[in-house]
Amino acid sequence: MTQDKPPAKHSSEAGSRRVLEPVLAELKQGDGVEAVRLFGDALDRGVVPVKSDLLRWLAETIGKQATVRLISAYARHPCFYCKKGLEPCEACHGSGHSGGANLCENCLTTGFARCDFCDGAGLATYNAIPEALRFPAALDRIKIAAKTLTNLLDQPVPKPRFDRARQCVKQSVQRLFEMNRLMGVFENALVLVKSLEPSGASPPPLREKTMTICVRSARRGRKRICELLQCMAACESYEAKSAGSKPPARKLAEKRAALFGSLAKSVSTFAGTAL
Ligand SMILES: [Zn+2]
Ligand SMILES: [Zn+2]
Repeated sequence: MTQDKPPAKHSSEAGSRRVLEPVLAELKQGDGVEAVRLFGDALDRGVVPVKSDLLRWLAETIGKQATVRLISAYARHPCFYCKKGLEPCEACHGSGHSGGANLCENCLTTGFARCDFCDGAGLATYNAIPEALRFPAALDRIKIAAKTLTNLLDQPVPKPRFDRARQCVKQSVQRLFEMNRLMGVFENALVLVKSLEPSGASPPPLREKTMTICVRSARRGRKRICELLQCMAACESYEAKSAGSKPPARKLAEKRAALFGSLAKSVSTFAGTAL
């Protein structure tokens, strides 16, 4: 009776490095998406050992710099399902309305809703990242998101203006989307860090600090989301006034003003965040 051969064990470090050459080449060229794909293939084929000290193995095999680049590629890897955390709203099929003149609350009448797959972060979920690289990737994501948040908060909230109400709403919606995406990044990172066992790569003080940054950032983001919604509500009230002679348009604008105003008071519901 013949026995199946056991799967080939990964070869020596030199051999592994050779097999990872295409990954290294993509990383060097800046094509992180392709590098992640090729690295995933190497993991599936057993060329790269799936173990808790993968990080150290990588540093020894491909070098520290390439390891940092690989982590960064995973951190930036997009969600395969959506674009920047948004997808066409299923509740209203992207129309922004449900049942004729009823506004779709699921997407704030924009036709786009938060991607459920990545929780609006627009990034690959953590379980698509090798376990040992998740915490370092989360640190990378938090760093980028915190920087983007600071830049966004530096831009003042648009001032509601009677003559530019429509443009003002559009601008606010774009910022709202971006802010909501960042909330998704912080939320997912927080959930991940909470779920990890403390280890050498994720020592308790660093975990604590990471969680504090996520919670604080989300609080700041939530405050801004609230301000943007208030601005949108004020603009819709202007729209209602300017549509005085057209009852259907006025009614719709009034409804939107009421919707945005009420959401501004319960932002956590809109952001869908557990923070
Ligand atoms: Zn909708
Ligand atoms: Zn997504």
